Amino acid sequence: MPDKPFDRILVTSALPYANGPIHVGHLAGAYLPADLYCRYQRLKGRDLVNVCGSDEMGVAILMRAIAEDTTPQEIVDRYHPQIVESFERFGMSFDYYGRTTSAVHRETSQDFFRTLAGKGVFNLRTEKQLYDPEAEIFLADRFVRGTCPVCGYEDAYGDQCERCGSSLSPAELLNPRSALTNATPELRETTHWYLPLGDFQPRLETWIETHPEWKANVLGQIRSWFTDGLKDRAITRDVPWGVPVPPDVAEAAGVEAEGKVIYVWFDAPIGYISATREWAQQQGDPDRWKTYWQDDGTKLIHFIGKDNIVFHSLMFPAMLMAHGDYVVPENVPANEFLNIAGSKLSTSRNWAIWLHEYLEDFSPDLLRYALATMLPETKDADFSWHEFQQRVNSELADVLGNFVNRTMTFAHRFFDGQVPALENPSEADQEVLAQLAQFPATISTAYEAFRIREAVFETMNLARLGNKYFNDTEPWHTRKNDPQAAANTLHVCLQLCASLAVLMAPVLPFSAETLRRMLRLDGVRSSAPGEDAGEGKIGWDEAGQPLLAAGHALGEAAILFTKIEDEQIEAQMENLGAPAPQAEQAGTKPFEPLNDQIEYGDFAKLDLRVGRVTAAEQVPKADKLLRLEVDLGFEQRQILAGVAKQMTPEDLAGRKVVVVANLKPRTLFGLESQGMLLMAEDRDGRLAPLTTDGEEGAVIR
Ligand SMILES: [Zn+2]
Repeated sequence: MPDKPFDRILVTSALPYANGPIHVGHLAGAYLPADLYCRYQRLKGRDLVNVCGSDEMGVAILMRAIAEDTTPQEIVDRYHPQIVESFERFGMSFDYYGRTTSAVHRETSQDFFRTLAGKGVFNLRTEKQLYDPEAEIFLADRFVRGTCPVCGYEDAYGDQCERCGSSLSPAELLNPRSALTNATPELRETTHWYLPLGDFQPRLETWIETHPEWKANVLGQIRSWFTDGLKDRAITRDVPWGVPVPPDVAEAAGVEAEGKVIYVWFDAPIGYISATREWAQQQGDPDRWKTYWQDDGTKLIHFIGKDNIVFHSLMFPAMLMAHGDYVVPENVPANEFLNIAGSKLSTSRNWAIWLHEYLEDFSPDLLRYALATMLPETKDADFSWHEFQQRVNSELADVLGNFVNRTMTFAHRFFDGQVPALENPSEADQEVLAQLAQFPATISTAYEAFRIREAVFETMNLARLGNKYFNDTEPWHTRKNDPQAAANTLHVCLQLCASLAVLMAPVLPFSAETLRRMLRLDGVRSSAPGEDAGEGKIGWDEAGQPLLAAGHALGEAAILFTKIEDEQIEAQMENLGAPAPQAEQAGTKPFEPLNDQIEYGDFAKLDLRVGRVTAAEQVPKADKLLRLEVDLGFEQRQILAGVAKQMTPEDLAGRKVVVVANLKPRTLFGLESQGMLLMAEDRDGRLAPLTTDGEEGAVIR
């Protein structure tokens, strides 16, 4: 039911683990799209609650604590406030941001567990599990590493393979080893509660069938889970950190409660409910959370990254269905992954961009905009500092900033800083106003369908329209010979600026506020939480109409965006660590598209020869270059190859390779390069020389 009528929206974003700071990968996966969506909906005047919080339970936190020889509580107390602060500075507009160590969360998850146990939903199973005899602990989830049975990756976690994304159980790993002590685990008997997901498959399938509008990447993953058949999932663990299994439930089942906690992926999504309860308490209306979770008029939306799809579109919905009192999600618009400069993000290698570090150097809106234009909505996407600079300079500064600036400057210089009246508008004036009227609906369509990139692109199109119109109507000319035409241009441009101040608020909340101040545009509904729908205020749907009256006095002009210099970008790139070795990168990149067709004559111009590499060495001070001596049979060549990052001199020395023998020589680092080696480059950027058995000097055609 794509267009189910609804009365209110409840938005959740994946709870970040409080065991490290936030990076751009997190932002691009869930938080930024969720924030744009929420700000847009608030401007629409919708009743909306946006909750999130720190996930402070789970084995990942415990592992970090063990690694640092401290307590899990100390870890979460360190990172939770840091996450809160950087989210706030970045303009994340949560109505409530909680944490799963709260008393409300413990009570909410235990109640949920108790209700499902009382309904006989769970199975209890006693079986042998991996146990680390040195650490004297059962090896749940990430405590065990080994070889992925699906893709062969040798460093897969016990609960998931990070390379192929397969969800695993520790017993499935080949060659398992303890992540704590490296010991080979032994099997010991223990009892756990299981959620029989398989029993829910028919209901889940029926439900998913009602949502053909979900994103293809999400539906694709769900269908492959269905095809494999949903399996029972253990929802308790033997680890010393987590929400304890309710003692009364354990006692009724005849299981020793001591040391048993609820699995983090059972309690984490319940964290959304806990956060809504805490929000309601803060509002002084403690029962209000029920309206958002239990009334059919709620549209529940989970923003997540693709690694969480199974939990949000299958496991949590099954839990909600089993409980019976709750609504199920209306959409789960999961994003794919964001790579950094072509390589998979890696926090351990610092191949990541950390939000708190970014905010020391740049304003939040620049990253909000740049990231929003490259969100991995349908496939993995790539972020680079150069692309960031490009988006800021050529779009924010040159398009949006320039349009606002030239309009404001002109109005102050020639119209006393007031909005001139529109009189006898030309066709062009009327056409632009007619186009303006369409913008809110056009951008809305994209936001409602979770096409955030498109929404941002359409928003920027309004500034593009403004610039084109300003250029076409040439007010700097008409000012002298047809002053009313110039006045009309400025009137229309100022209306576009005013509309932009509303429509750009989701993506650029800080700059939108600056622009509203410049225009002295009051009475605009807030895109941030904490205000009521603002009856009578200017909202999204009003933003297609002229918002400034003739004679309205404008505020002072200010520069909205300054360009980013190359040196600033270079400084950021120096902060980046190293990408993970290519071998660890998933080989899922698309093949490069074919070049345009050529004539045979174009090909025949190439003189390709077999050559033997007789010597190979690194070029001093040129870290990318290898210097090769190549025997072509009839002559010796010196060839420089820019492959030193991918291969060593040893990889090439002695090999027979294919040389482009008639390439014009060129000089690099004072050395002449007399030809070129052919290399095969795979989808992950790995290079391999083209080798042959032919004799030196042989022609290749
Ligand atoms: Zn795998």
